[in-house]
Amino acid sequence: MDICLWGLGGRIVVPEDPGYNEARQGYNRAIQHYPLIINYCRNKEDVAKAVNWARRYRIPLRIRSGGHNYEGYSNGSGTLVVDISEMHGLSLDEEGGFLTLEGGVTNRQVYEFVSARGYPFAGGTCPTVGVSGYATGGGWGLSCRYLGLGCDSLEEIELVNGEGRLIKANRRRNPELFWACRGAGGGNFGVIVSMVFRLPPKTDNVTLIEIDYLQATTERQEIFLATWQQWLKEADPRITLISRIYNSANDGLAMLVRGIFYGEADEAKVLMEPFTGLEGAEYSFQYLPFLEAVTIIGSNYPDSEKFQSVSRFVLRNFNGEEIAELVKLIGQRPPGSLFAGLSMYALGGKVREMGRDQTAFFYRQADYIIWLETIWEENRFAVANRSWINRRFPALASVTTGSYVNFPYSRLPNYLEEYYGNHAALLKEIKKKYDPCNIFTFPQGLKSRGRKQSKPAVLTDLEAEETKAQPADDRTYRRFRYVKDHAGAGR
Ligand SMILES: Cc1cc2nc3c(=O)[nH]c(=O)nc-3n(C[C@H](O)[C@H](O)[C@H](O)COP(=O)(O)OP(=O)(O)OC[C@H]3O[C@@H](n4cnc5c(N)ncnc54)[C@H](O)[C@@H]3O)c2cc1C
Repeated sequence: MDICLWGLGGRIVVPEDPGYNEARQGYNRAIQHYPLIINYCRNKEDVAKAVNWARRYRIPLRIRSGGHNYEGYSNGSGTLVVDISEMHGLSLDEEGGFLTLEGGVTNRQVYEFVSARGYPFAGGTCPTVGVSGYATGGGWGLSCRYLGLGCDSLEEIELVNGEGRLIKANRRRNPELFWACRGAGGGNFGVIVSMVFRLPPKTDNVTLIEIDYLQATTERQEIFLATWQQWLKEADPRITLISRIYNSANDGLAMLVRGIFYGEADEAKVLMEPFTGLEGAEYSFQYLPFLEAVTIIGSNYPDSEKFQSVSRFVLRNFNGEEIAELVKLIGQRPPGSLFAGLSMYALGGKVREMGRDQTAFFYRQADYIIWLETIWEENRFAVANRSWINRRFPALASVTTGSYVNFPYSRLPNYLEEYYGNHAALLKEIKKKYDPCNIFTFPQGLKSRGRKQSKPAVLTDLEAEETKAQPADDRTYRRFRYVKDHAGAGR
C-alpha cells in the first residue's frame, strides 16, 4: 500500500524499517498489531500534524504513551500510531505546589524527578507505564489510600483535539472534559500532551511491606482471602496493599502481600499482624526512601509478558462458600500457563473520600479491585489461556460489580456500563461534544457515532504469519513473588 508521509513531523517508522517489529510491540506480547505508521512525536506541533494527517487521509489513529494497555488498544493494524513516549519533559513549581509533565512521561520518570526534591507521587506499580494512560483511567497505586488515585491530584490537562487544535481543560475551562479525563481512560477525547498535578506533602521515608506464603494449600488461600477482606474493613488509610493468591509453575499454590505504609516500620508491623500471623508467612518491613520502595516494587516487572486477564470491583464481603469458589478459579492452570493468579488492589481511604460524581471514576465506594490473570509463553497456548479466563468470567462477575478501565477485558459484554456505571451516558455526551467526528477510536472506546469500529483488513495475513513466528522461549513472567534476602526478614 502506497502512503504519503508528507505532513507528518517527528520520527517515522514504517513496516519496511528494520526497527518496525520492535517498535510495534506493546507490553502484552500476546497481542500483535501491524500499524501502517508509528509516528514518534517530539512536541505538540508534531502531535497536531499527526492528527491532521490521519483525518486528511482517513487513516484510523491510535494514541500510545507507555504501551501497557492490556488489550493493546494503543495500537492497531492498519493505523497511524501517535507515539508520544519521546515527550517526557517534567517541571516543578514548588512555590505553587504543582508538577507539570509531558504526555509521554512514565511512572519511573516521575518518581525519580519528584523524589529528588522530597516528594512522593500517587503513581502505579510498574515503572514503564505511561502516567497519562494511568491517570486518565483513575490510577491505582500503592499510595492511593493515603494520597488518592492518580487522577485525584490532576489539576489541568492540555490536549490536541480531533481538529488538531490545542485545548486546555481544568475546573473552569472545559470542565466536562476535565471531569471525563479523570477516570474514563485514555484514547477517547484527544492526545493529552501535558498534565499538571498538585504536589502531595513532602515525605521522608515510607515502610515497604513484603510478605510471602509459599507451599500453601487451597485451605490457606481461603483463610488468606477471609483475612484480607476483614483487614481492609478497618485498615489504616496510611497503608495501601496489593495481595495475591496464585498458582504458578514454580511455587504451586502460594500467596503474597506488597504494600507501602506512610509511617515507621514498627507501627506497620503492628497493623499487619493479621497477615504476619498467618501460617507460613515470610516477611520484611523496610523503612526507606519513597524512591527506593517504588523501585523495589517496580523491579519485579519484566519488560513484557503474554497474558490475558479480567478485572472487577468488589463492594461487599464474600461468605465462606463464595471465597471457596474464588479460590477454585485458580486451582487448575490452563495448558501452558506458568502463572494463574487472583490479585486484590485495596481501595478505600482517600479514594472513597472523593464523591462518586466528582470525577468520571465511578467505583469510589468499592473495597478493592479483583483481577484474574493467566500468563503463558508459547503462542500455541494462547487460545486455551484466553478461554480459561472467558469460562471463569461469569463466576467472577456473579459476585462482583463493574470492571476497571485500566485493566480492560476485550470480551466484556456491555463494556461502557461495566467500566463507567451510571457515568456512561454523560461520557457519551462529552465524547460527542469533544470528538464529534470520532477521530479517536479503539475497540472499547466511547463512540460519538453509532457505527461500530471494524478491524482494518490490511495486513491480516502478515499478522497471522507473525503470530506463528513469535519466539516461544522468552521467559518473562513476573517475579512479584519472593521476599528477597533483605536484612531483617522474619518468619
Ligand atoms: C505490568 C503492568 C502493571 C500495571 N500496573 C498498574 C497499576 O499499578 N495501577 C493501575 O492503575 N494500572 C496499572 N496498569 C495499567 C495501566 O495503568 C494502564 O494500562 C494504562 O492505561 C497504561 O498506560 P500506558 O500509557 O502505559 O499505555 P498505552 O497502551 O500507551 O495507553 C493506554 C490507553 O491510554 C491511551 N493513551 C495513552 N496516552 C495517552 C495520552 N497522552 N492521551 C490520550 N490517550 C492516551 C491509549 O490510547 C490507550 O487507550 C498496569 C499495566 C501493566 C501492563
